[in-house]
Amino acid sequence: MRKIGALGIIGIASPREYGGSKAGHLPALIAVEEIARVYPSLAFILEVTQAPLYMIETWGTPEQKQAWLPPLIRGEKIAAVAATEPTGGSDLATLNTTAVVDGDGYVLNGRKVYITNGGVGDWVLVLARTGERASVLTVEKGTPGFVVSRRQEMMGFKSGDVCELGFSNCRVPKANLIGKEGGGQAVAMATFTVSRAAVGAVGLGIARGAFEIALKYAKERTLYGKPIANLQAIQFMLVDMDTEIDAARWLIYRPAACLDRGMAPRDIGKLSARAKYIGGEVAASVTMKAMQVLGGYGVSPEYHLARLLADAVEIFPATGMPQIMKFIQALEILK
Ligand SMILES: Cc1cc2nc3c(=O)[nH]c(=O)nc-3n(C[C@H](O)[C@H](O)[C@H](O)COP(=O)(O)OP(=O)(O)OC[C@H]3O[C@@H](n4cnc5c(N)ncnc54)[C@H](O)[C@@H]3O)c2cc1C
Repeated sequence: MRKIGALGIIGIASPREYGGSKAGHLPALIAVEEIARVYPSLAFILEVTQAPLYMIETWGTPEQKQAWLPPLIRGEKIAAVAATEPTGGSDLATLNTTAVVDGDGYVLNGRKVYITNGGVGDWVLVLARTGERASVLTVEKGTPGFVVSRRQEMMGFKSGDVCELGFSNCRVPKANLIGKEGGGQAVAMATFTVSRAAVGAVGLGIARGAFEIALKYAKERTLYGKPIANLQAIQFMLVDMDTEIDAARWLIYRPAACLDRGMAPRDIGKLSARAKYIGGEVAASVTMKAMQVLGGYGVSPEYHLARLLADAVEIFPATGMPQIMKFIQALEILK
């Protein structure tokens, strides 16, 4: 993260006064895609980091922005967003984590699961119930009552740090409230809408990486005295992969391009859910086809493709299940 921070990659969409380059959401998304081609885990960590950045940039106080954004953009500090609970990530309205006002702070209690950067994170932006509604609170690493309960091993994204977190009478200063008290659902929903397309871009990058491996292999592997690229069955798989990638690319770029043209997150809900959905589909479909082109080598962990296959399935649940992505689109189509 320090290396990509020094290259200016983390802050591509962030304001210049905090060290970003404000180049836009689309360039930031393309950076995620390009990294995912070769290193999906890192691309995913980069994507996840965009969520706390966006929250702080959009709803943070001037003091919060000054304190948290520059080190995050430089990659010197790492942040996480903790929304999912053991009782179900799809139903964020039913939050069991609570934050109760106590003097000049909140007392936080609850559990969060599958939190990327949860263990290595210097700050965790926690979605918690404050009375009837939700709020976002930044919890600093080392705060008494905040524990990283365990690292959760996943099939893919092996260098990702996905953790279960516990909060037990954890005191958080009121100065760490992001946005208004009770405004947490709106903050979380807008943030996920903005960051979802970048998860799709991780899927797109994985698909491109898998396609490149399959194409190279098809030209090099000879059977019956000729490269297997001469076999029509292989050609058709390569064409399908290339077509799927091409089609997915424009669906995935579109919400980011819309944001860069001034549209608000509420206007791109369907587009970003669709981008995330198609990113999972293209990653899974193309890596499965690439696996078939490579024959037995496709499933050997000695080859990079097996890693891409494992990473591809992680796209499905990350920032919301495919069914939830369809649900969001249906809401907009039917209204
Ligand atoms: C690699 C990875 C990284 C992650 N990082 C983070 C993170 O940083 N922060 C964070 O907060 N969370 C994170 N998550 C959690 C992720 O957001 C959740 O896993 C996801 O939202 C699904 O929640 P769940 O696993 O509890 O499944 P559930 O919500 O229990 O869903 C179970 C099944 O029910 C279906 N379902 C649920 N509701 C409906 C409905 N209304 N209609 C139809 N079907 C429905 C789902 O589609 C799914 O098939 C991460 C997950 C992964 C895999």
